[in-house]
Amino acid sequence: MAFEGLAGRLQNVFSKLRGKGKLTEDDVNEALREVRLALLEADVNFKVVKEFIAKVKERAIGQEVLQSFTPAMVVVDIVNKELTELMGGTQSKLARSNRPPTVIMMVGLQGAGKTTASGKLAKMLLQQNHRPLLAAGDIYRPAAIKQLQVLGEQIKAPVFSMGDQISPVEIAKNALQHAKDNGNDYLIVDTAGRLHIDEALMDELKQIVEAIKPDEILLVVDAMTGQEAVNVAESFHKLLELTGVVMTKLDSDTRGGAAISVKAVTGLPIKFAGVGEKMDALEPFHPDRMASRILGMGDMLTLIEKAQAGIDADKAKEMERKMRTAEFTFDDFLDQMEQVKKLGPLDQILDMLPGAGKMKGMKDIKVDDKQMARVAAIVKSMTKEERQNPDMLSPSRRKRLAAGSGNSIQDVNRFIKQFDDMRKMMKQFSSMMGPKGPKGMKG
Ligand code: GDP
Repeated sequence: MAFEGLAGRLQNVFSKLRGKGKLTEDDVNEALREVRLALLEADVNFKVVKEFIAKVKERAIGQEVLQSFTPAMVVVDIVNKELTELMGGTQSKLARSNRPPTVIMMVGLQGAGKTTASGKLAKMLLQQNHRPLLAAGDIYRPAAIKQLQVLGEQIKAPVFSMGDQISPVEIAKNALQHAKDNGNDYLIVDTAGRLHIDEALMDELKQIVEAIKPDEILLVVDAMTGQEAVNVAESFHKLLELTGVVMTKLDSDTRGGAAISVKAVTGLPIKFAGVGEKMDALEPFHPDRMASRILGMGDMLTLIEKAQAGIDADKAKEMERKMRTAEFTFDDFLDQMEQVKKLGPLDQILDMLPGAGKMKGMKDIKVDDKQMARVAAIVKSMTKEERQNPDMLSPSRRKRLAAGSGNSIQDVNRFIKQFDDMRKMMKQFSSMMGPKGPKGMKG
């Protein structure tokens, strides 16, 4: 996913720091120089980097780090917190009008992923038991209307369209009326994009805004375009009062700088991130979780929420606690594996696991049904005690598991090693990050 390079570099900087024990001011300065370079290389806006480093430095050179027993961890924590702040601090949620429908207008350049994001958003709302209506307002791009209709059919959301011979302003007005008449509580209006920002486009968008007074104007930008995405956001925001950004294609190997800078440069929060072409590849954007992913600390909450969509948050938190405290057992693993099929591509899942970037070999596992069945067979061949205590799996027990599950000893060993690595990684992070942040850290 995006940030892979950045995450790798930052993790290197911090592991060097950790190797040092007590830190001097020079150590911190040197580390921050490297952080600065890493951010610039990830295409984070120059000014944003400068301010960010200044802030981190001010806190890091202060008492908290140099006097701490675990200074490197305190530095990581400071970077984590500042990175979270940089991306907006807390999650910025979708507006909800108390006079439905809540009107959401999607704007952006051609190819940014507007139509796709409209469909994804409708799907997300449907899953939350809302009744969204999609409106096809892009009358210029050939096949845009058809594309939305196909998406609508796929996700089972109604699509309002009047063909391509009527002005988008009229379409939007009629769509709003249609939503009111039909009890739709959300209206998502897909609008036309252009290759570049031009006056005619902006005028038309302004007229639509005037006509339907949207509660949200979401700008869809393509993370792969890097700083250009931030420039586009600035330009659009000057002309239309945007309320937020949908950052698409964060699944691609973009350097991720746009996602880190857009809030700081424009003041606009990222509300959603697009992480794939499929209709369920949209995530609410949580700055804290994203920071955690960038720093290689994983994003268990998103992972677990995805896995257990529909199950309450308390349960997700409990599973996260288990993972962090390394109480995670083979039974939990089996449980989670049942959910894996719902999660989507494995590389996305891996991005959310702590330290996964470093776990070579993990990348090669393919979650296909056959593989899952084999692993499940191994776990199912274990006794109750073995499932709860992975450490008791002696060679003779492994041999039994191999025979019982129809796998080779090597397969069993490989699986247990992977499971072990995962737990170790979790343990490592849990000792680094107590419930209130790193040890030795106040407040
Ligand atoms: P629009 O012109 O802004 O409406 O763009 P589209 O919605 O047609 O999207 C353009 C292309 O980007 C399509 O091929 C989409 O499948 C693809 N796309 C959109 N969002 C994402 C995303 O989050 N990740 C990836 N990998 N592709 C995306």
